[in-house]
This record gives sequence, C-alpha cells and structure tokens, in this order.
Amino acid sequence: MKTQVAIVGGGPGGAATAMFLQQAGVQSVVVEKDPFPRFHIGESMTGECGKIVRDLGFEEEMLQRRHPVKQGVNVYGPGGKNTFWVPVMRREDDGELIATTTWQVRRSEFDQMLLDGAKERGIPVLQGQALEPIYDEDRTVRGVRVKLNDGEIKEIECDVLVDASGPSTFLNKAGLTSKKERGNYDNQVAVFSHVKGALRDEVDNTLIFYRQKNHWGWFIPLDDDVVSIGIVAPSEYFAEKQESKQDYFLREIQELNPQLTKRVKDVTLAEDVRAVSNYSYEIKDFTGKGYLCIGDSHRFVDPIFSFGLHFAVSEARLASCAIATYLSGESEDQENPFAAFQETSTYGQDAIQSLVDCFWQHPFAFAVFAHSRYKEDVIDLFAGRIYADKPSRGLIAMRNMVNSSR
Ligand SMILES: Cc1cc2nc3c(=O)[nH]c(=O)nc-3n(C[C@H](O)[C@H](O)[C@H](O)COP(=O)(O)OP(=O)(O)OC[C@H]3O[C@@H](n4cnc5c(N)ncnc54)[C@H](O)[C@@H]3O)c2cc1C
Repeated sequence: MKTQVAIVGGGPGGAATAMFLQQAGVQSVVVEKDPFPRFHIGESMTGECGKIVRDLGFEEEMLQRRHPVKQGVNVYGPGGKNTFWVPVMRREDDGELIATTTWQVRRSEFDQMLLDGAKERGIPVLQGQALEPIYDEDRTVRGVRVKLNDGEIKEIECDVLVDASGPSTFLNKAGLTSKKERGNYDNQVAVFSHVKGALRDEVDNTLIFYRQKNHWGWFIPLDDDVVSIGIVAPSEYFAEKQESKQDYFLREIQELNPQLTKRVKDVTLAEDVRAVSNYSYEIKDFTGKGYLCIGDSHRFVDPIFSFGLHFAVSEARLASCAIATYLSGESEDQENPFAAFQETSTYGQDAIQSLVDCFWQHPFAFAVFAHSRYKEDVIDLFAGRIYADKPSRGLIAMRNMVNSSR
C-alpha cells in the first residue's frame, strides 16, 4: 500500500492531521488499533481547541450532539475560598477580547465523530496495530508495518510517517526519537470516573478544586446527567491510603474541598473508577527526515488546565502545513525538514509548562495575575494562544517567578 502520509493513531491528533492534510491536498492513511467508541480521559477543551474543531467543519454536529458549552474555568482554593475565574475569550483582528464558548466532550463520542468525519471525507482508516517503522538503506523512514485486526500484516509505504499514538509513544519505542524524560508532574496519580446526580451550576464550566500542592480535583459536565470527576494527588498519598480505586475516589470527592463536597452529596457511579499514573513526560527530539510526532506521542505536561486536546489538534494543523511544504519540495532544512515544526510545538508546550509550574509554585501570585495584573495574558494562555512571536508580559512574569524559586 502506498500513500503520501501514514498516521499511527486515530485519536483527535491523528484524525485532525488526516483532515488538515486533505485540505492541503495531501493523501494519508490512518491506522488505529482500538475499535471505536472507546473510553478515553481528557474531556475539557480550550477556546482555541473549540475553534479548530469549528475550522474542521464540526460546529453543527457538535451543537446537534448537545455537548455541554463551556464559558470558562473556575478554580476554588483550599477550603473552597480564594476562587479565581478565567473566561473563554477570543481575540478579534484588532486585538479586542470577545467572550466566546468552547465545549466539554465525552471522548468516546467525540473521538468517534472526528474519525468518522475523516472516513466520510474519503480518508482510509485501517483497523490494526502499527508494529514498527520501515526504513530504507540509509535508515530514512519510508513506511510502517501494520498488523491488521484480522491478522494480516500490511506494509504501508509513505513519504512521511506521523506518530499520533498518544501515550503509547510509538516512534520513541521504535528508537527513532530522543529518550523519554520524566515531566515535572510525573509522580502523580489521577483517579477518575463519571457520576450521575451531581449538583450542577447554571453554566457547564470546568471546575478545579485545590486541596494542597499537587493535590486537586476536576468537575467537567458531559451531558444533562453525567459529570466527569477526577482526583489527582501525589503517588505516595494514594499508596498510603491503601484503598481500592473506588473507595479512594468516593471518599476523596467528599473530603477534597467543600465546593466539591456540596456538589456530590448524592452521586452514583456511571462508569468504572479508573486510574492513570506517571503521565507527565517529554521527548525533546521528535522529528527527523520522514517522520514527526504530535500531541501526547511526544509530550504531556499535566492535565490541570486541559491542554491535551488542544496540543493534539493544534500540532495536527502545524504538522500538516509542515508536511505539505516538505512534499512540495520547499523545505529549507532537508536534513530535518520538520525542525521548524518541532521548534514551534516546543515553544507552545513550554508556555503551558511555565503556566502550570507558576500555578503550583506560587498559587496566590498566580491568582493575582489571573484576576488583575496580567488578566488578558492569562486569558490568552488559557485559551491556547501560545504560538505568538514573543512571550507576553504575563508569561515572562510567570517564568521569572518560577526561575527565582529554583
Ligand atoms: C488524568 C488526565 C486528565 C486529562 N484531562 C484533559 C482535559 O480535561 N482536557 C484535555 O484537552 N486533555 C486532557 N488530558 C489529555 C488528553 O487525554 C490527551 O492529551 C489527548 O487525548 C491526546 O490526544 P492524542 O490524539 O495525541 O492521543 P490519544 O487521544 O491517546 O490517541 C492516540 C490513539 O492512538 C492509538 N494507538 C496507539 N498506539 C497505536 C499503534 N501502535 N497502532 C495503532 N494505533 C495506536 C490509540 O488506540 C489511540 O486511539 C488528560 C490526560 C490525563 C492523563
């Protein structure tokens, strides 16, 4: 089988890459190992992520599916006090900030919508597991070997191989990228589920509940009945409790923060209680001749301010531009035609790393920045406007605070 681009992974990053490539006139094939719909965590979108979903043509379908509409993020401090609020806002061409909305999504439905959208546009989606890259004599990637779900082994020849395999980090395991390094929030456990019967606010915003450093919870409405709730804490704390995941979850949601307690008095579980740990990592070199990684396949900082989907679809768009340029023969750096893509992606991810580091190291100063001193810069960061030519004053101030406490 021959194509211009083979994409490993049919999650939001892989599906969006395929659709952006098609808009640029580039053929691709997506390989996805799991039958959809499948459970996935990561349910709250940034404003710019919502915009990309609209740009891909899914606005009407998102509205028909009645995904909860998010207007912003409320962060409740310890004891339910010292709240701060960051609204979802877009920037007009003249720089004015205008209130807008984005969505909360049940990932089984959302991911299926995107992958079905790719199929409906004529993009082939193979159900199977990518096993390994295929190389030519000088070790340049020229394809991928796949085991289809019916057992057949298929070789896909391509000009570019895109890794959108999420935390499976396919190309890292194949030894093509630099090593996988631990992120700043590596030693954490997230325990989460979906519940029915929670007390809801009038607007379906994302609520974050702070207990103490690195110990927090989320509340993300998914439809009229169901809310996603997660508790994140250091691994040692989780281990000390010696509870089953379910007992731990049900106790924590009652104890973490009074603002959460009052919302979960009579809840019942609508999903299994699941856990994920050690999810924070970084692969610094994730591009080369014939390949690149997007989204979780090269980095995941931390879930607190909901940037995973954002990176997956933003990097999908950046990658498809870089690939279209490369295939047209216009890339300047032929040694690594995706070096500029890597630099831009890293620049954006580093901005969010600084945002999250500042929040955990200086929560009170962060709240002042968000409320008054750098309000607009914080709104831009939370929205995902992170690829500007130079860092904003607010981002520089956050970096200075983080560096001063090193
Ligand atoms: C606790 C927690 C909470 C989170 N909360 C949020 C949130 O509120 N908002 C948010 O935006 N993000 C959140 N995230 C992050 C979000 O889940 C991810 O960043 C996002 O799903 C990344 O998308 P992706 O397309 O890169 O990867 P994925 O969505 O993981 O998709 C990768 C796909 O590749 C497939 N695949 C893997 N290996 C192979 C292979 N060898 N062959 C074929 N297919 C393969 C997988 O089956 C999968 O479908 C959270 C993450 C965690 C850990």
